[in-house]
Amino acid sequence: MKLSKEKATTVLVWAKFFNVSFEYWDSDGLSQIASAVGTPLFMDQLTEQGSRVSFARVCVEVEATSNLPSMFRVNCEDAEAVVKVEYQGLPPKCDHCVVFGHDTTKCVKTQVAALLNLQKQTEDNPDPGWETVKAKGKRKVDVPETPTTTDNHATSKEVGLQEPDAGQSQ
Ligand SMILES: [Zn+2]
Repeated sequence: MKLSKEKATTVLVWAKFFNVSFEYWDSDGLSQIASAVGTPLFMDQLTEQGSRVSFARVCVEVEATSNLPSMFRVNCEDAEAVVKVEYQGLPPKCDHCVVFGHDTTKCVKTQVAALLNLQKQTEDNPDPGWETVKAKGKRKVDVPETPTTTDNHATSKEVGLQEPDAGQSQ
């Protein structure tokens, strides 16, 4: 829970390394291998005992900034070997914020940016449907009648003031 609240730029994960040649199958060698993906902390029991050789599992601290490789090359004595990596316990990562804890598609900042874009687009192209509604409203209310009457009344009053005879006759 803490990780999702804080801006987690590093997390601990299990990295499973496949096709590790035997010359790397010790603490130093596996540390060297694991350094390709992050900071190695410790290896699991079976790896340490060497009783499971199908893959080596190492706990590594990985950075949100690193593009975790799915494979990388390792120099062996006679040739290059390609080590494959699988990650276990890797939390969702946001490429926008470059933090762990939430997925890029669920990023609030990305959503806000998308909404701001939508707002700009709407301002550039106002919805024509809105103008139609306004026109209909004017016709229904039939506004011109009332102001015209008031104007006429005011005019007649002004006229009346200027010409007392005409005002009295009304
Ligand atoms: Zn984000």
